[in-house]
Amino acid sequence: MSSREQPKSNFSVPMKKITKLLVANRGEIALRIMRTAREMGIATVAVYSEADRLSPHVRFADEARCLGPAPSKESYLVGAKILAVCKELGVDAIHPGYGFLSENAAFAKQVQEAGISFVGPSPEAIEVMGSKLAAKQAVLAYGIPLVPGTDEAISELSVAKKKALEIGYPILIKASAGGGGKGMRIVESESEFDEQMNRAVSEAISSFGDGAVFIEKYITSPRHIEIQILGDQQGNLVYLFERECSIQRRHQKVIEEAPSAVVSPAMRKAMGEAAIGVAKACNYYGAGTVEFIVDENLNFYFLEMNTRLQVEHPVTEMITGKDLVREQIWIAEGKSLSFAQEDLTIQGHAVEVRVYAEDPKNNFLPDIGKLVTYRRPQGPGIRVDDGFEEGMEIPIYYDPMIAKLIAHGATREEAIDRMIRAIDDYRITGIQTTLDFCRFALEHPAFRSGNFDTKFVEHYFRPELLEPQFTDEEKTLLAALAVEFFEQEDQRANPRTPLVANLSTNWANRLI
Ligand code: ADP
Repeated sequence: MSSREQPKSNFSVPMKKITKLLVANRGEIALRIMRTAREMGIATVAVYSEADRLSPHVRFADEARCLGPAPSKESYLVGAKILAVCKELGVDAIHPGYGFLSENAAFAKQVQEAGISFVGPSPEAIEVMGSKLAAKQAVLAYGIPLVPGTDEAISELSVAKKKALEIGYPILIKASAGGGGKGMRIVESESEFDEQMNRAVSEAISSFGDGAVFIEKYITSPRHIEIQILGDQQGNLVYLFERECSIQRRHQKVIEEAPSAVVSPAMRKAMGEAAIGVAKACNYYGAGTVEFIVDENLNFYFLEMNTRLQVEHPVTEMITGKDLVREQIWIAEGKSLSFAQEDLTIQGHAVEVRVYAEDPKNNFLPDIGKLVTYRRPQGPGIRVDDGFEEGMEIPIYYDPMIAKLIAHGATREEAIDRMIRAIDDYRITGIQTTLDFCRFALEHPAFRSGNFDTKFVEHYFRPELLEPQFTDEEKTLLAALAVEFFEQEDQRANPRTPLVANLSTNWANRLI
């Protein structure tokens, strides 16, 4: 099927052309969404906090309105202010991006009630998938593989303990409302159970305002592999293959790639069909991601569904040739998908690294400051999605991601080599970034071989590995060069005085 006029399902969905889109977000994702909107002839509205007054997304938009002070709670998270801007400027659709209000079912409902299109799924789907427990319940009838564990909130410690023994330690206690890698506790043995459970519940209450927790088997050598899906309001659903997101730090993704080095065509089909089952379980439409955890034997289990555009969506765009934001907008307008599953193929390989303003040599502490030099890499197969420019300050109020660097190649090797070249061409001074750390990971034999799991960073990374590594021969050569350099400098400064070779030698020693 190639024509937009031929939906497979026949539900009649009223068409609602979008003419003015407000992007309720900031930084790289706001810009990325607005670029597609502009290509589609849709006018764009930016919203911003006082800290983002000079941001590129504000300048790019056709119109812009300030929401308030820097903290998100006073700006990007205030739905009422965003809706007031829509009313003032005659906006007919809101794209929430990721984070902020993107998975807030109440906000999606308010948007709908105001007669504005929400570029995302229905509030009901957001609500079901926003709770890990409700999501598990919803997919039970669809035969989706789940990690062995409880599918209801734990109310009785003794019952939970019995279940944990059945599953076998180690187990993981998870907060149903958890997200962003937070709200999880590993329990190694029964003796720790009570203490970890009490902590997990009080953390879940303080962080998410919901004390519901459940237990799962802790998969000791897991991979995180997710499936991108798209569904229209007529009920058509397709999967756009997988993204491998196992390179993580503290359960947060750092490097993503598509396709995965371990997924065979048969496994891809099985995972894709399972993802579609998850989507059907909540009558999903829009772009969504179904996350799976994969064990050493390549068994996969449903983890959760993210009901929005993901940070790592560009790798899927690179290998499928589809613009996911364009598809999201079409779906929100009530159009049916313009392609079927059989029309999709994987073209080459794509890798993405997240460039953070963090210091990998100092426990990845945020390194906020001014981008004194900022020059993006260029060349074939390179895409940079960012929201900063040279001279800008990185604000402390938000996620410290500066950019996403994406490389596409004909093969996995080509994509990785291209990425390393692009990292070397990226010039950022004024702050520390995670670029060197990403280079380290991409060059590591375990990453190169494709044989790694979510413990990659824990297993292989040490900050000292980012220091330049020289062989003895190179050290001698460097020392000799340093001596010569400083002698020449000294001669130039004081042509009549004897060479101050000891000074130069001291410098040379410091280099070794
Ligand atoms: P969040 O909503 O916080 O992102 P997820 O359920 O998606 O939580 O899990 C985040 C990460 O935690 C996964 O990518 C994986 O690395 C790890 N994880 C989650 N569940 C398990 C499990 N049962 N066993 C081992 N690791 C897990």
